[in-house]
Amino acid sequence: MHPTAYLTHPLCLAHDTGPNHPERPERLRAIRQALARRGLDAHLLFLEAPAADRALLAQVHDPAYLDALAASVPTRGRVWLDTDTPVSPASWDAALRGAGAVATAVDGVLDGAYRRAFCAVRPPGHHAERARAMGFCLLNNIAVGAARALARGLERVAILDFDVHHGNGTEDIVAGDPRILYCSTFQHPWYPYSGTGRHAANILPVPLPAGTGGAAYRHAVEEHWGPALEAFRPQLILVSAGFDVHRADPLAGLNLETTDFRWLGEWIGAHADAHGEGRVVAALEGGYDLHALGESASAYIAALAGV
Ligand SMILES: [Zn+2]
Repeated sequence: MHPTAYLTHPLCLAHDTGPNHPERPERLRAIRQALARRGLDAHLLFLEAPAADRALLAQVHDPAYLDALAASVPTRGRVWLDTDTPVSPASWDAALRGAGAVATAVDGVLDGAYRRAFCAVRPPGHHAERARAMGFCLLNNIAVGAARALARGLERVAILDFDVHHGNGTEDIVAGDPRILYCSTFQHPWYPYSGTGRHAANILPVPLPAGTGGAAYRHAVEEHWGPALEAFRPQLILVSAGFDVHRADPLAGLNLETTDFRWLGEWIGAHADAHGEGRVVAALEGGYDLHALGESASAYIAALAGV
């Protein structure tokens, strides 16, 4: 029995995006309730995330950006960093816990405390660039996890990003680093309208047209991500788990079903088994229909946990 960890922190609920914002605290509650409904609680190790430390964050983000972001947080109300991205009094601390969750999960799998982990965190991360907040994202949680893995001595880390939106921030941060392979699927053309131009050798974008369903999606993953992972042989797989690729999601137009997330969890797990002693650390990105998010994330986490 290999335990699977579930990392989060109450501060992730306190990041207050205001009324009518799709990236809201209820998202984490929907996942937690779906896990309980599916009877998964007994299979998971629930852990509270510590705050990420400054030295680790500075490997991923411009130090001046970190200072500006921390200073941008208001003492009351909200400040908007772009048209989509508000910060509230708890946002900096929530972001530190989000990045800290992924870094801690990387430590946990490398230390053998558990084999796989899901980080139920917000704000999400994959649009956050080295020196810019964007698209609901403040700190690039998954890139922080990759930096932690490299600092621990790993030589090959894969990031697989199945969010419906292209992870422009992750690409910005990891492009050109041969120790990291960044594979993504995303709807194209769609926000943030990046990902299909010239890119570094360690970046593998798979743009998909609106309306793509589960069968075509699985085929694209097997055809493009499969050979890349076989050639790269990652010692650890990190996952930007964006459940906004579900057909019910209000923010985009791909058509995955709940069962496709089970498949993704198993497919990614098999590749981790082949090269990385089964080690997978996933972090929540998108997913804005609460029911679909709960069902999809719990299906994915069940696959991670092998139940
Ligand atoms: Zn997204």
